[in-house]
Amino acid sequence: MGKRILLLGAPGAGKGTQSKQLAEKYDIEHVTTGDALRANKDMETEYGTPRSFMEKGELVPDAVVNEIVRAALEDADGYVLDGYPRNLSQAEYLTEITDLDAVLYLKVAESELVERLTGRRVCSECGTNFHVKFNQPEEEGVCDECGSELAQRDDDTEETVRERLSVFEENTAPVIEHYRDEGVLVEIDGEQTPDEVFDDIAATIES
Ligand code: ADP
Ligand code: AMP
Repeated sequence: MGKRILLLGAPGAGKGTQSKQLAEKYDIEHVTTGDALRANKDMETEYGTPRSFMEKGELVPDAVVNEIVRAALEDADGYVLDGYPRNLSQAEYLTEITDLDAVLYLKVAESELVERLTGRRVCSECGTNFHVKFNQPEEEGVCDECGSELAQRDDDTEETVRERLSVFEENTAPVIEHYRDEGVLVEIDGEQTPDEVFDDIAATIES
């Protein structure tokens, strides 16, 4: 059976960057609620569309994201879960539907998060992440992986970033404390280079 990895961290901590590599190395699924929601932004739900929450930096209702995760995990032989759970009620739901082999927290200071998010550029086709300063593509505005155009996410503006970080503090920090209290949380220094972060994560998973 493939490894079941939970990657926690604030917006901009590097979850997407690391998950992509982890999925390749361990041949597991990258399950990310953020990407799933962006691909279904205008889906009508009884609560409204995901877009109406995402553009304000608020959380999409639990019922919508829980169902996305349930369906994705059911189909996966091993996964790295990125962007979920974001509150205690989602964490409780996750405990009901799966066991985990590793719970990792990528720790990064808030000032660094703001700079990472406002400078992030994402491939419109394959979703690979770049940064205007920290992780430049070979050719400006063009994806190294697939040659498609890079774009800035609608919610990566400074104002929405501040809101997302405050939602993280209020709703998601308690999730991290919950796993810490259970004694399963491994903290990783997320301010190292992406390769160093990856080496620390791999060492933890294999220990
Ligand atoms: P998350 O998925 O946690 O929101 P991302 O993986 O998208 O975070 O990373 C946010 C931004 O920071 C991206 O522009 C990415 O290129 C950049 N980044 C990721 N890891 C690092 C790192 N270790 N050092 C500097 N910048 C990074
Ligand atoms: P992300 O790509 O992880 O930064 O998520 C982008 C946005 O999608 C968030 O600001 C939320 O609006 C929404 N979202 C992603 N994951 C979740 C989740 N687990 N619960 C609620 N909303 C989510």
